[in-house]
Amino acid sequence: RHAQKSGARLQERTAVSGPVLDETTGSIVGVTAKPVDDNGRKVGDEVTYRAPVVVAADGNSTRLSLAMGLRKRNDRPMGVAVRTYYTSPRHDDDWLESWLELWDGEPNRSNLLPGYGWIFGVGDGTANVGLGILNTSSAFQHVDYKDLLRTWLDHTPEHWGFREPNRTAPIRGAALPMGFNRKPHYADGMLLVGDAGGMVNPFNGEGIAYAMESGEMAADVISQALRRTTTDARERTLQGYVGALEARYGGYYTLGRVFVKAIGNPNVMKLATRYGLPRPTLMRFTLKLLANLTDPRGGDAMDRIINGLSKVTPRA
Ligand SMILES: Cc1cc2nc3c(=O)[nH]c(=O)nc-3n(C[C@H](O)[C@H](O)[C@H](O)COP(=O)(O)OP(=O)(O)OC[C@H]3O[C@@H](n4cnc5c(N)ncnc54)[C@H](O)[C@@H]3O)c2cc1C
Repeated sequence: RHAQKSGARLQERTAVSGPVLDETTGSIVGVTAKPVDDNGRKVGDEVTYRAPVVVAADGNSTRLSLAMGLRKRNDRPMGVAVRTYYTSPRHDDDWLESWLELWDGEPNRSNLLPGYGWIFGVGDGTANVGLGILNTSSAFQHVDYKDLLRTWLDHTPEHWGFREPNRTAPIRGAALPMGFNRKPHYADGMLLVGDAGGMVNPFNGEGIAYAMESGEMAADVISQALRRTTTDARERTLQGYVGALEARYGGYYTLGRVFVKAIGNPNVMKLATRYGLPRPTLMRFTLKLLANLTDPRGGDAMDRIINGLSKVTPRA
C-alpha cells in the first residue's frame, strides 16, 4: 500500500505463469500472468506485462527463477519451519522464548526430539509457537513436522494452553532457504529478492528483514540503472546489486554456514548449552551474532569483533 501511494501499480489476484524473453539476448523483458480468484483458480485470459527490469520476489519456490534456469544450490543450508497459534495466557510475554532442546516428555528423562522451538506472545490473546529443523539434522525430511510440533507441545505445561482445542490456526510450514542458496542475484534482466534469492539468515531462520532490505536495495539499484543512458552502463549498475548484497550479508552468511554445520553435531550443541548458556557475557555476544544485531559503525568490542569477522570471512 505504501508503494502504491508512491505510484506503484499493484496487480492483485494475478498469478505469474512464466517469463517473457527477448529472442535475441535471452534476457527477461516481462512476464505472462493469469487472473485468478481467491482460491487460485484461473478466471480469465492470460495477460502479458513488459518491464525494463524484472524482480523475482516470489518466495522460496520461485518458479520464475527456475524458469530462468536458476536452480538452488545444495551446498547452502536449508531449513524447514512449522508454526501455528494457540489461545494462551502467554500471549503477552514480552520476550521471545527459544527452545534449544525439545523433549517428548520430562527433560533429560525422555527422548530428545530433533529441531529447535520458539514461543512468542502476539498480544491478541494468542501465542505464535513453532519449530524449525536444519538439513544438517538426520531427521530432516524424514519426520512429520506437524506431529513433531504436537508431540513437543503436548509435554509443555497444561496451563500454557498449547493443546488442540486452543489452536486458532492451521499448522503451516515451509522451507527456509538460507545463506544465498540461489545465485546470481542479478542475471539476464532479473533481480532476486528475499527467499527467491535464498536470503534467510542461517543463524536464526529469520527472513522477513532480509526480504525487505534486499527489496530496498534492489529498488535503489533499479532506480539508478534506469537513469543510465546506455545499455552497458545500465547493466553495470544492475550488476552492482550482486556486490551490494555480498558486501552486506556475504561474510556473515558464510559464518552462518559454519555455525549451522557445528550445531548439527549434537555433541557441540550439548557442550554449548551446558557451558555456554550460563555465561552472560558469552550469551550477549551470541545474541548479537545470531540476531544480527551489531552496530555497523562504532559499537562496542563485541560489535567490532563480529563485524570484523564478517568482513574477513569469504563471501557466501
Ligand atoms: C513457519 C515459518 C515461520 C517463520 N517465522 C519467521 C519469523 O518469525 N521471522 C522472520 O523473519 N522470518 C520467518 N520466517 C521466514 C519468512 O517467512 C520468509 O523468509 C519471508 O516471508 C520471505 O519473504 P519473501 O517476500 O521473500 O517471500 P514470501 O513471503 O514467500 O512471499 C512471496 C510472495 O510471492 C507470491 N507468489 C509466489 N509465486 C507467485 C506467482 N507465480 N505469481 C504471483 N505471486 C506469486 C506468494 O503468494 C507470496 O505472497 C518463517 C518461515 C516459516 C515457514
